[in-house]
Amino acid sequence: MSLRLLTIASIWLTTFSLAIAHAAPPIADIDDRGVHSAFQRAMVEQMDSGETISAADLSEQLDRTGPAAIELVAPSSQRLTPPQVYDRAQRSVVLIGSLYKCENCDQWHAGLGSGFAIAPSVVVTNYHVVQSRNGTPLGVHTIDGKTYYVAEVLAADAKEDLAILRVDTDKLSAIAVGHDAPIGADVFVLSHPVNRFFTFTRGMISRYMLSHESAVQHGDSEKNGGSKAPGPRVRRVALTANYSKGSSGAPLIDDHGAVVGVACRRTQVAARDSKGPDKTVGTMNFHSCIPVSALRRLITPTGHDTATAAPSASGATTGADTGENAGP
Ligand SMILES: [Zn+2]
Repeated sequence: MSLRLLTIASIWLTTFSLAIAHAAPPIADIDDRGVHSAFQRAMVEQMDSGETISAADLSEQLDRTGPAAIELVAPSSQRLTPPQVYDRAQRSVVLIGSLYKCENCDQWHAGLGSGFAIAPSVVVTNYHVVQSRNGTPLGVHTIDGKTYYVAEVLAADAKEDLAILRVDTDKLSAIAVGHDAPIGADVFVLSHPVNRFFTFTRGMISRYMLSHESAVQHGDSEKNGGSKAPGPRVRRVALTANYSKGSSGAPLIDDHGAVVGVACRRTQVAARDSKGPDKTVGTMNFHSCIPVSALRRLITPTGHDTATAAPSASGATTGADTGENAGP
């Protein structure tokens, strides 16, 4: 072997062994079909066990306005890198949904949205995720493949489109509940857009605004002929991180690993020109979320939570747009 080849070989070996020494933890590949069918199987088993609460009974508990006493965990005292934010969040974010009987194949299928654990047995999601159930129990599914059924509504707010649920386990990994983030702050969303489970996106807070939307406008109730009339005025936060249908109920997370909002709507806004064949001159996808201060109003924090008030941002009224609910 020539000297040159030996040199190349030794450089290669050195590089290779360095790569091993600095190897990151293995990256788990998400198997979307596998996750979907594991959730379906577990939910059918739970239904057959007869231990689950019916969707109708759960829906009735949505009149519980709280606040619920919940022991919250503290956020990180240090700024986290995006991989660190993901690593913490993926343990707390869940799929949440129920099964429906398919008209085409007579099998059970799952309709799934997003949620997150704020205590070992407590999950937060949108009000409309709980409300739009038609017969089958509601369940949550974690990234490590565990399924638990939703046992009780602890507190809910129809106007804000929020629900806090007790789940039949005490093994969930809690994420910290933060305070409203300033405009321009980095935020991350970990959610399940259109069955692309555990998709991590990044952006920043764009603005706070006053918006006319309500749970009545959302999801199934609209399909069943629900009113499209403007709902009560609520405060919302817009962000540039992308999400889609199925992301509803997902956390917006800041760089200290704390929840600063809850994803609820995705809207395509279009500017229109009255002249010409194509009247649409510009479109933009607009992502509107519930500020975490609305979630905090449903909670009496106990434990390590530092309940310092965040500065409130004021907003202007929104223009007309065609809203589309983000899930499930
Ligand atoms: Zn089918």
